[in-house]
Amino acid sequence: MRITPRRTFGAVAFIAVFSSAVFAQEPPLKSITYRLSMSRPVSHLFEVSILIELPDQLKDKPLQLQMARWSPGRYGVFDFAKNVQEVRAAADGTARPVTRVNDQTWSVSPLGVTKLTFSYKVFGNDLSGTFSQLNQRHANYNGGSIFMYVVDHKRDPVKLEISAPAGWKIVNGRTERLGQTEWQFPNWDIMIDTPTEIAPDWTQDDFEVDGKKFHVVVHSLSPEDGKRPALVKDIEKIVRAEVAMWGPPEFQEYTFLIHFAADDHSGDGMEHLTSTQIIQPGALGDRGTYENTLGTVAHEFFHVWNVKRLRPEELGPWDFTRPLATRGLWIAEGFTNYYGHLMLRRAGLWDDQKFLDREAETIRGIESAQGSQFMNAEESSLSAPFIDGSPQAQTTNLQNTTISYYPKGELIGMVMDLLVRGRTAGKSSLDDVMRAMYEEFYLKSPNSSYYLRGRGYQTEDLERLASRRSGVDLGDFFKRHIRDVEVLPYDEAFAYVGLRLVKTQAKEPFNAGLSIQVAVIENVWNNSPAEDAGLQAGDQILSLAGKAVSKDSWMKTLARFKTGDSVPITVKRDRQTIKTNIVLGQPERFDYRIEEKADATAEQKSLRAKWLTRS
Ligand SMILES: [Zn+2]
Ligand SMILES: [Zn+2]
Repeated sequence: MRITPRRTFGAVAFIAVFSSAVFAQEPPLKSITYRLSMSRPVSHLFEVSILIELPDQLKDKPLQLQMARWSPGRYGVFDFAKNVQEVRAAADGTARPVTRVNDQTWSVSPLGVTKLTFSYKVFGNDLSGTFSQLNQRHANYNGGSIFMYVVDHKRDPVKLEISAPAGWKIVNGRTERLGQTEWQFPNWDIMIDTPTEIAPDWTQDDFEVDGKKFHVVVHSLSPEDGKRPALVKDIEKIVRAEVAMWGPPEFQEYTFLIHFAADDHSGDGMEHLTSTQIIQPGALGDRGTYENTLGTVAHEFFHVWNVKRLRPEELGPWDFTRPLATRGLWIAEGFTNYYGHLMLRRAGLWDDQKFLDREAETIRGIESAQGSQFMNAEESSLSAPFIDGSPQAQTTNLQNTTISYYPKGELIGMVMDLLVRGRTAGKSSLDDVMRAMYEEFYLKSPNSSYYLRGRGYQTEDLERLASRRSGVDLGDFFKRHIRDVEVLPYDEAFAYVGLRLVKTQAKEPFNAGLSIQVAVIENVWNNSPAEDAGLQAGDQILSLAGKAVSKDSWMKTLARFKTGDSVPITVKRDRQTIKTNIVLGQPERFDYRIEEKADATAEQKSLRAKWLTRS
């Protein structure tokens, strides 16, 4: 997944509990057929029927169906069951009783029959990489949010039949021909790995790379300003750069499913085995939207290898009755963030400076986050259910105590890549290590489950394989910078390629210790001037230094003051007006820049060119 850049966010350390999901060895059901229809798009209600044929030996057992609590790629717990309504069962033309067992499970007694129809409606009005949307413009669904699975039979083959409104066309990453309405999937997990778009007016452009077919399906809910042909060409450049690193992908066809939502809020990217679902909040013609789309494409397509096939052990098959617990998301998502940026450089869409500036910005984010002092990369991964798009009903201190495994893992990937390149004088790289991981765990390991080829890795496997492959002992690096919170060795890493990291005082001459959204305090840093002044997140700022402020103007207002000045602030909290003073602290904010070292050698420059332009 890729989240649109925002404040680093993140959570509390806790101990990893590794659950091994229990997959019962009951005989498979004779058939499971999902029928999806949408007779009334304006209601946002998807209609799902599941036709189940039981073998004789199971016809007297109660059958349970379950809605997942979350779905792969986004690890917040959403409880999709909350949008389910009108659950029914029928057999031999007669209604059968359905009992709700718990928040996510329904049970039906087959009462001696071998054929049963189970049906329900599910509300969906979010265009996203996790949820689903049905309205008068289209249906776009992610299967985890609408399809229940039969408990103990998630591994059984399933069939899907879609009945679309007249004139609407169906497309997904497993579409083989135009007009297709039925699909066969080896199991439920693969069915929900296949997000689907149904609308009268999406477009499709195709290209081929090394004999593999790529489809760019675009549903624009706003004008494109003629930019689509160029977008398709640039997507092809990204595909070529990533295939150049990994080698040919395993599939024959792949689909980029892209929405330009034009609603100014829906933005997402989600990886799948043979497709990606990408949603941009603006129009293709808007400034910045084109570049953001390419950024998401570079990230999601890299997941074809890293995450979807080469994966941490806990990433599939999943137990959807409890949140995910894996220590590996700094590799799965963080390395993908790093390579997403590097691939834009290697594809020729960015120049060296743009790439270096982007990494310097990530360094600024991580090194100025309070959570960097408390949370290491593996704890961050374990905290994913709290921080990955998770709803927060309870007030939390997560903004000050956590970091995201996206930027943290991105920097670990970059520094590790440079250390390996530097210490081996260019003979090895993280590219080699990732290819070796893919070969060992995905291509060569015996299948560990029904779900997918190969088996997953533990973070110790990367440590072992990276050290063995490169001849560089990375044990100390993992101990200090991945399993502990020590600042990454940027100086050593950049010096190998003739660069240096320059840290400068940020332009504001004070530290206030807060961030503001729409004149409401979004966060108060711990042990900061704002906290000393008694301010809290949620306080509405009525005035600062006697002036009304907005999200954009408060820094300008404070810029008239300096460290030690006492600035009056009036806030509203719980119907009370509170007047207090912020005593501005020593400046603590820094900017970072990566620049060429004055004494960079020819060898270092050559190593840098190899890093940035070739794999
Ligand atoms: Zn991702
Ligand atoms: Zn659509």
